[in-house]
Amino acid sequence: MSIDQGTTSTRAIVFDRSGRVVSSEQIEHRQIFPRPGWVEHDPAEIWRNTRRVAAAALAAVDLTVDDIRACGLTNQRETTMAWDRSTGEPLHNAIVWQDTRTADLCVELGGDAGTDRYRTRTGLPLSTYFSGPKMRWLLDHVPAVAERARNGELCFGTMDSWISWNMTGGPAGGLHITDVTNASRTMLMDLHTLAWDEQICAEMGIPTDALPQIRSSSQVYGALREHGSLPGVPFAGILGDQQAATFGQACLSAGEAKNTYGTGNFLLLNTGTDVVFSDHGLLTTVCYQIGDAAPHYALEGSIAVTGSLVQWLRDNLGIITDSAEVETLARQVDDNGGVYVVPAFSGLFAPRWRPDARGVIVGLTRFADKRHIARAALEASAFQTREVIEAMQADSGVALSTLKVDGGMVVNDLLMQFQADILDVPVSRPVVNETTALGAAYAAGLAVGYWSGEDEIRANWAEHTRWTPSMEADERARLYREWNRAVEHSLDLA
Ligand code: ADP
Repeated sequence: MSIDQGTTSTRAIVFDRSGRVVSSEQIEHRQIFPRPGWVEHDPAEIWRNTRRVAAAALAAVDLTVDDIRACGLTNQRETTMAWDRSTGEPLHNAIVWQDTRTADLCVELGGDAGTDRYRTRTGLPLSTYFSGPKMRWLLDHVPAVAERARNGELCFGTMDSWISWNMTGGPAGGLHITDVTNASRTMLMDLHTLAWDEQICAEMGIPTDALPQIRSSSQVYGALREHGSLPGVPFAGILGDQQAATFGQACLSAGEAKNTYGTGNFLLLNTGTDVVFSDHGLLTTVCYQIGDAAPHYALEGSIAVTGSLVQWLRDNLGIITDSAEVETLARQVDDNGGVYVVPAFSGLFAPRWRPDARGVIVGLTRFADKRHIARAALEASAFQTREVIEAMQADSGVALSTLKVDGGMVVNDLLMQFQADILDVPVSRPVVNETTALGAAYAAGLAVGYWSGEDEIRANWAEHTRWTPSMEADERARLYREWNRAVEHSLDLA
């Protein structure tokens, strides 16, 4: 069983040896927006949903605990929590990765060195995206967090740590752990030593005794708690969601890449055991570490807003009533009618890293209507992906031959065809689209010997759909040029 604690929902999925889904349950949780730019989740709600989906996934197909060989966990990355070590009580809502409240703090932390102050050690630019500054914010603004820190009773963690703590313990909690991939998103871990960087922690004012222990992505960490629905099951894999999807897509060799279309988009290129730094706005991150083996690293292009723009059309503009309707609407027109949406709701992430950029809709005329906006919203995901792929090719010198895709948006045929067209590269979707959950299941299953090794994982991968480019080169160039002009407008608002 894999628990996938995502940004919009929590899932439990049971997989069989061939990597097919046997059972799947999902519950959405509340998105809390206390102020413009702030995004929070309720940790108690998320833990409650985790318990429910795990129990329901078993019950739905009449499985019992004896059918489950191991449990793996994958999670929305960077989202940061603080709780009391003795009671397990959350001290504040979780601060979500998209939240921009640490913008000023990040500028302050950069000082004269600027955003790249910690890049050679952590692979990351100083940005509101990562966990370390969120921890610092909690210490500075939540008295209960500062007090627990003074008394040595504070636990910090990303969502994997919160779920691990609860899944392995009694009321007062169990293991306080994280894995190398999640730790690599805090800005507090040294990429080379895979240990907390004492100097960065000191400079950011984060007490290291409040941080979880860093483990590999695939090993038996412990057993699941006795009074849950999976008592005694080995808990044996943790991967941040994007690294898990890379693993689930069997991108296990240097040069293999995948792009996930969820709330945001995340393109990861496995660079093998080499730490590769980017000159073009990509992140360097840990891809996975299996037991004691050398870690694999990745170059990553993170886009903050893709699927969440579709949610915004639904929830904020009300021009669609469900996500699938965006395609129905977009198909009613032949093209975008000159309309471009740049969804810089959290600023722009890769490859530009401009926290001050703001969202724009440009090219409006009296002719434009909601169908063009729907189409432009979908195209925005594809244009942003092209920017990231160009950065990746510039950094790696390797041209992409096929783009492996997954995530909630890949059911959108119009988007996938447009992606192939705007890249001029075929796009390929696997049979099992739940690659994130599958990657965590693989990590756990490898640790207990359910799968024999990476060859078996590669052999399980099978193509479901392939979209082949069919757009004229001139048209491709024109659309991309207009997109880039729209992005300039979003930067003008900075
Ligand atoms: P996450 O794991 O980040 O929570 P998912 O992979 O579950 O996200 O994808 C959910 C996202 O996909 C949502 O933002 C939703 O708006 C978007 N989405 C779902 N169905 C469609 C669709 N048919 N067309 C476009 N976007 C969609």
